Amino acid sequence: MHPDHRSSVVVVGAGLAGLVAADALARRNRSVTVVVPGGRAGGVLGTVHHDGWLVERSADCFLAARPEGVALVERLGLEDELIGVEPVARRALVWHAGRTLPVPAGFRLMAPGRAWPVASSRILSIAGRARLLWERFVPRRSTADDESLESFAVRRLGREAFDRLVQPLAAGIWTADPARLSMAAACPDFLAMERRHGSLWSGERARLRQSAAPEASGARYGQFVTLASGMETLPRRLAEELRGCGVRFIDGTATAISRAADGRWRVSGDLPESVSADAVIVTTPAPVSSRLLATVDQGLADELAGIGYAGSCIVSLGFARDRVTHPLDAAGLVIPRIAGRRILAVSFSSSKFPGRAPRGCVLLRVFVGGALDPDAMRLPDDALVELALSEVEQILGTRGEPRLARVERWDRAMPQYHVGHVARVARIEAAAARHPGLALAGAAYDGVGIPQVIASGQKAAACCLTLPGSS
Ligand SMILES: Cc1cc2nc3c(=O)[nH]c(=O)nc-3n(C[C@H](O)[C@H](O)[C@H](O)COP(=O)(O)OP(=O)(O)OC[C@H]3O[C@@H](n4cnc5c(N)ncnc54)[C@H](O)[C@@H]3O)c2cc1C
Repeated sequence: MHPDHRSSVVVVGAGLAGLVAADALARRNRSVTVVVPGGRAGGVLGTVHHDGWLVERSADCFLAARPEGVALVERLGLEDELIGVEPVARRALVWHAGRTLPVPAGFRLMAPGRAWPVASSRILSIAGRARLLWERFVPRRSTADDESLESFAVRRLGREAFDRLVQPLAAGIWTADPARLSMAAACPDFLAMERRHGSLWSGERARLRQSAAPEASGARYGQFVTLASGMETLPRRLAEELRGCGVRFIDGTATAISRAADGRWRVSGDLPESVSADAVIVTTPAPVSSRLLATVDQGLADELAGIGYAGSCIVSLGFARDRVTHPLDAAGLVIPRIAGRRILAVSFSSSKFPGRAPRGCVLLRVFVGGALDPDAMRLPDDALVELALSEVEQILGTRGEPRLARVERWDRAMPQYHVGHVARVARIEAAAARHPGLALAGAAYDGVGIPQVIASGQKAAACCLTLPGSS
């Protein structure tokens, strides 16, 4: 037991998962130490303020339909900062045949909620629309084993709807290879719709009858929120609160975790002091967690190493409004892979949320790379800016030099939930459970979205709260 007689926990990593776990434990009177390189809280979350521009380095919003994100914002007293997507931007556009066209109203990632918007959409050929609307008659799959997003969507909606609608929308969310992305891990609700209602059409109709959600298309933009001062405010405020209630932050990089004969966990590495505790929560990306835990349990380490990661780059470009021809009347634009362009998507940041650009200016975030274009990560910054500029000039009619150009590189930052991921996570959890006092949390396991990551931090903390002697 820790000298102050409270049970002690060391949290490795201070992304949102680590901070939330530390918070849940500190509030239950545990002695908590957080180890993080550079002492910096927030992980991938970060916001840059520069001359009236507000540029998100990674996540720019989160889903409010799940309770965890909004609940955390409220607990931290930040509810006055919560803002929703502007009504004009509650839809997504798709690049098709040289034009930006709206995703059919009511079409949610792969679920057609209404017939007429699909029947009249110019994104699909007549045959493609007919095939999509035939979805309600496609029999449900008889087996329950996992399936890729591509296989599921082609089977239910047809190849054309996949290529022109589902693939670009999914790439904009997961930056993944849809032929490998697990339906069970990434889209369990759509799988459940097929199982329960026989089709996505019937499932989505049933969902709409139950919810009062306003109509939107693409990625349910009406249900996304952000903080007026930027996403970084969330981890920063949480870290301030943790420091205020005695949580210790140690600036250092962990290289190994071990368990002593007396059952205490020890974290070693490039640290100013040795750290040991009754329990450890590992919230680092899975490849790092694999290396840290190799001497504790090689089987667990191998499973963690099996979770792949993809990278992407975000080029943020700011323009004077009169330098952009496109009305930017959407949350953003996704580009189908079959279009053969080099960018995945463009988020219209200043259309989505107020305060992202100085008056009279607009802010665009251009996404490049992802699992299907790993070479993009190797381009130098100036080449990435040039690439993004040339694409937005052709697609959105931008002209001249941008007032702001900023590149964010996210090398191997996004966990890839490949087919079989749910079973792998079950094996990881079972292996971790064999080591009392060990828990794992973070985006690698049960969802990459901010609410899911918060839930994973809370779940890991709950594991440590139930340790013997931890009442
Ligand atoms: C580009 C991008 C855009 C995104 N957009 C959205 C979005 O719009 N909406 C949304 O909901 N989600 C979005 N996400 C996902 C979401 O932001 C992440 O899933 C979430 O923030 C990850 O939190 P985490 O704590 O699991 O991991 P991380 O934030 O990666 O934190 C990991 C922590 O581990 C630490 N660490 C690493 N190695 C060591 C070591 N050896 N020793 C000690 N500490 C270590 C790191 O310093 C860091 O503190 C996006 C992600 C990315 C990358």
